[in-house]
Amino acid sequence: MAKILVTGGAGYIGSHTCVELLNAGHEVIVFDNLSNSSEEALRRVQKLTNKSLVFVQGDIRNQSELDLVFQDHKIDAVIHFAGLKAVGESQQIPLTYFDHNITGSIQLIKAMEKASVFTLVFSSSATVYGEHSSSPYKEDFPLSMPNNNYGYTKLVIEQMLEKAAQADVRWSIALLRYFNPVGAHKSGEIGEDPQGTPNNLMPYVTQVAVGRREKLSIFGHDYPTKDGTCERDFIHVVDLAKAHVFAVINRLKQTGCRAWNIGTGMPISVLQIKETFEKVNGVEIPTIFVERRAGDLAAFYADATRAEQELGWKPQYSLEDMLADSWNWQKQNPNGYN
Ligand code: NAD
Ligand code: UDP
Repeated sequence: MAKILVTGGAGYIGSHTCVELLNAGHEVIVFDNLSNSSEEALRRVQKLTNKSLVFVQGDIRNQSELDLVFQDHKIDAVIHFAGLKAVGESQQIPLTYFDHNITGSIQLIKAMEKASVFTLVFSSSATVYGEHSSSPYKEDFPLSMPNNNYGYTKLVIEQMLEKAAQADVRWSIALLRYFNPVGAHKSGEIGEDPQGTPNNLMPYVTQVAVGRREKLSIFGHDYPTKDGTCERDFIHVVDLAKAHVFAVINRLKQTGCRAWNIGTGMPISVLQIKETFEKVNGVEIPTIFVERRAGDLAAFYADATRAEQELGWKPQYSLEDMLADSWNWQKQNPNGYN
């Protein structure tokens, strides 16, 4: 069993990963500045697992705060979620995004090096593939410049980590390229709690369902897809969380830097999300079709066979599970953790 530092562990994907790590018998230290999360999520993680974790409030850009964590705990591996993730906001305040995501990752890598901890799982994104290839995306496709500053930070960090691993064979790094995480823990105790108006489809749908928003706008219905709306690869957050546990185990045994897609490989349309959500949950989602959103690709889904072959990971939850669990969380927590 390993002692794992989880940066950004109080957030949406981080909190679900803490549950899976604790359930698998690992020790967890969460490092988070709570800029986009609540300590309540960590209380619930401990309640759900009946196990305790250590929480350190701090910022990954602060080298001395990080050094202290590595001094206080004999860490075996790091899972790095901390960072900013709103695509639209990253266009307005690029330097803030570069600071949290890129500078923060550099500070973390330096602190790890100082403490001789060389095992890292990084939260990347399928956005690093850019717009030039087509679905299904494979890990060895060429990467290209994403069309927004958030995606750019993921590309830069991936390349930085690859170069660090090339220069020093002690590094063992997993780049997990997530597709579209949705859903929540079955208990409804933890889930996605975006601040302000959600940018992403699923929290928007659940907020319409719970009455916090009037209607869903579907961006574009003239795409070259089966029903004219965009297709994405939605992955249940618990499946995604489990992929991190598999990746840590793999990385503790091998060195080098390797990328894995984390998706189901199944294209699901935006309209299909709305209709299936209504059917599974018996709730109506008032909807209008509006203009396409700038920068959206028609279809974006993974070839996820590498993760199955090399990590032994395979998604277990269906689309119906994703939609039922998202709704269960939102219904039980109409205002998130507040
Ligand atoms: P989230 O915002 O819920 O979690 C991120 C956590 O990091 C939050 O708890 C926040 O308080 C913390 N944080 C932010 N800046 C920090 C800093 N400077 N120092 C310390 N803590 C800081 O987001 P999430 O959806 O759980 O995403 C986790 C990671 O996965 C992010 O790196 C994100 O870019 C990546 N990712 C997310 C998605 C998605 O759709 N949710 C898709 C692809 C990749
Ligand atoms: N979408 C939508 N209405 C919304 C939010 C999103 O129609 O209010 C669509 C969006 O155009 C895209 C899909 O839902 O085709 C997924 O968008 P999201 O922002 O969740 O993730 P992305 O794939 O852009 O990372």
